[in-house]
Amino acid sequence: MKTVAITGATGSIGDSSLAIIRKHPDQFKVHALSGHQNSEKLIRLAAEFKPKNVVISDKAAYQTVKKALSNSTTQVHAGAGALDAMVADKEVDLVVAAIVGNAGMDSVLAAVKAGKTLLLANKESIVAAGPLVMQLAQQTGAKIVPLDSEHNAIYQCLGSDYLIGTRPEHVRNITLTASGGPFWNTPEMDFVDITPAQAVAHPKWDMGAKISVDSATLMNKGLEIIEAHWLFNMPNQDIQVVVHPQSIIHSMVNYEDGSVLAQMGCPDMQIPISHGLGLGQRLSNDADFLDLVSQGELNFYQADMRKFQCLQLARDAMVAGGTAPAVLNAANEVSVAAFLAGQIRFDQIGHYNAKILDIIDVVSVESLAHLKALDAEVRQQTTALIQSNR
Ligand code: NDP
Ligand code: MG
Repeated sequence: MKTVAITGATGSIGDSSLAIIRKHPDQFKVHALSGHQNSEKLIRLAAEFKPKNVVISDKAAYQTVKKALSNSTTQVHAGAGALDAMVADKEVDLVVAAIVGNAGMDSVLAAVKAGKTLLLANKESIVAAGPLVMQLAQQTGAKIVPLDSEHNAIYQCLGSDYLIGTRPEHVRNITLTASGGPFWNTPEMDFVDITPAQAVAHPKWDMGAKISVDSATLMNKGLEIIEAHWLFNMPNQDIQVVVHPQSIIHSMVNYEDGSVLAQMGCPDMQIPISHGLGLGQRLSNDADFLDLVSQGELNFYQADMRKFQCLQLARDAMVAGGTAPAVLNAANEVSVAAFLAGQIRFDQIGHYNAKILDIIDVVSVESLAHLKALDAEVRQQTTALIQSNR
């Protein structure tokens, strides 16, 4: 029996994780859950899974959750440090990091510091704080298991002896697949008219709003290149991207002898999350089984780096190193939020990200406090730039 803490439990990754846990009550006990604004859902989840702790990180929602759970055995927490304490709790075996965005960075580092097994969905934290996360994991012996489907695919292909953070042996390079998002075939001149509703309607994956927009701009693949760089200790030139609209092959490892290992399956996050939660054991879930005959075709295309500027920006930021990925990540969070709020156009997301990368100097990553100060500065500058152009 493993005890599990899930940060961001009220989101899409939270749903998929809890769907698997629900099927295996003999193997998992939910010890703690967190939500941000969705108090109603957190209350419902607490009633079902009866965790020892819940954290509601949005202050306004705290009283509602506290009141609703006042007669239950679940303790309700909020405020600075509550998420860190939740994941570092000595009773917790597995931490699923499923908060969206840089808001997940503190608790990811807290889990790593506590030497936990960290099932990592929150890619933004490793993009921004890659050097800190990997160094700390080495010091504490924390085990990081990627849940992002591409990285989980590569992790599966590398085999059970592979140690995360080390350069895999006899591997020439890796290929991350990208669905291409909803606008793969849309002419660039039509990007100006893309609405938030169109951008979040992903053709293959059912995900939260932010990552759906990132998939549409291909920033998601850019963030994943940086994520792969840290998890698999590989340089820019050894991380390839190929557009594969069917999203059946989730990524590939290209070995020195010409063998290519790929992991396949229907596009459903329950598959990589099952692998993560199972820690080497295969767990049944509700995902469909792959039927290749009815699938018919699998296609592959070169990614258009000019049309999808964000992909190029991510590669550039990774090569620049230091704080550049953190700057890009923070700027992107602001520009995506502005797009979703109807303040900027779809094609301007990359434009603002590029401008901020140009303005802010790259230095080396010093500490979590340094990254948090930088994050606040980038957010403020990106917001100001957007406001000044409206
Ligand atoms: P969702 O938007 O569906 O869920 C986000 C979760 O984070 C919710 O629980 C939300 O709480 C919580 N949250 C939001 N803001 C804050 C904050 N400021 N502080 C604390 N918690 C917060 O996102 P997804 O589940 O889609 O994505 C989660 C992470 O997983 C992202 O990093 C994404 O890139 C990654 N990922 C997701 C995939 C997917 O298929 N969904 C695939 C691969 C990676 P509430 O709703 O209560 O406000
Ligand atoms: Mg992915």
